[in-house]
Amino acid sequence: STSLDIERIREQFPILHQEVNGKPLVYFDNAATTQKPTVVISALENYYKGINSNIHRGAHALADQATTAFEATRLSIKDFINAKEVEEVIFTKGTTDGINLIAATFGRAFIGEGDEIVVSTMEHHSNIVPWQMLCEEKGAQLKVIPLNAKGELLMEEYEALLSEKTKLVAVVHASNALGTVNPISEIISNAHAVGAKVLVDGAQSCSHLDIDVQALDVDFFVSSAHKIYGPTGMGFLYGKRQLLEEMPPYQGGGEMIKTVSFEGTTYNEIPYKFEAGTPNIADVIAFNEAIHWISQVGKEAIRAHENELLAYAHEKLSAIDGVIFYGEAEDKVAVVSFGIQGVHPFDIGMMLDARGIAVRTGHHCTQPLMQFFGIEGTVRASFSVYNTKEEIDKLAEGVAKIARMMA
Ligand code: PMP
Repeated sequence: STSLDIERIREQFPILHQEVNGKPLVYFDNAATTQKPTVVISALENYYKGINSNIHRGAHALADQATTAFEATRLSIKDFINAKEVEEVIFTKGTTDGINLIAATFGRAFIGEGDEIVVSTMEHHSNIVPWQMLCEEKGAQLKVIPLNAKGELLMEEYEALLSEKTKLVAVVHASNALGTVNPISEIISNAHAVGAKVLVDGAQSCSHLDIDVQALDVDFFVSSAHKIYGPTGMGFLYGKRQLLEEMPPYQGGGEMIKTVSFEGTTYNEIPYKFEAGTPNIADVIAFNEAIHWISQVGKEAIRAHENELLAYAHEKLSAIDGVIFYGEAEDKVAVVSFGIQGVHPFDIGMMLDARGIAVRTGHHCTQPLMQFFGIEGTVRASFSVYNTKEEIDKLAEGVAKIARMMA
């Protein structure tokens, strides 16, 4: 087994130590949101108790402290994804907000009639709908990369979709519904070869995989703090400096301006140009603790542990009659999507919940992907660093019982 002391890690997550429906909680909904270690929870309290004040404005001690702590997170994110410059990191509300920002600024400014945007069949709705809205507004076209039966992108078909009309390729790094890890390095270099820019949805990848935006040469990268052991309501957008400078602002308001008069307004430098209004200061500051935490534990060790859980879950569940897997890619993060022949996913979820086991059921905000598999939804168990093989035994026990009962 792996080098991590999982019991010691579990001690740092207060929420895990409770009973649900009279059973010890087994939390397998990590792809929806991860739980938070005590250092993150304490940072929120410490902020409000000690330094709460508005940033970048006040000429007083607390405002200085809050501003310093706030900007320290930007620096940590820069290192976390290996951005070249700290100004290339924009704070957002999360992945959805980051994608909408790019659609509203880069998209409105640089995508026009007859242009094409490429997404994949496995995208989350947040990486489909903003592009559909933009296409409708601009008369542009959305093209879709198809999949094979294992839930992997068909790369030859992808290359065939690319042309000088392609302005943007927007793809998910790791699928929330299947766990598939996409070959984004290749996707990016192919797109660049026809002059297209690339946006990578990193909502599911940052907590498992090492991210190096410079090595990838990716143009835009977005993620959510709440999927990386951090707070909700906060995320980040990385963009290459030149692109961010060429893009018009997102929302108008305070902080994003240099000067305002009724004759005309001038805009602030990046990153502030994209950060109108008072941001989510407390959560940004607390996210820094999540980054420190994950770095201390080490992504390699986390990945090794999660891969072990993934293999174990696959082994245990595949031994049960009637279990069907969705998404069996070669390269996966720790997500198992499955069903039981003849049983509705929602019923499986309810019966597992009665055993204290939290899984997600349904379409996982990926309805086109469910249509591809010809199903309404799946049961998804997604694992994190604090999960154990004993918990997977409980899942398998529950699933076996349901399969026997309902079949
Ligand atoms: N993309 C993927 C792959 C996701 O898993 C999620 C969250 N389920 C999102 C985008 C949207 O993230 P958020 O809801 O945090 O904006």
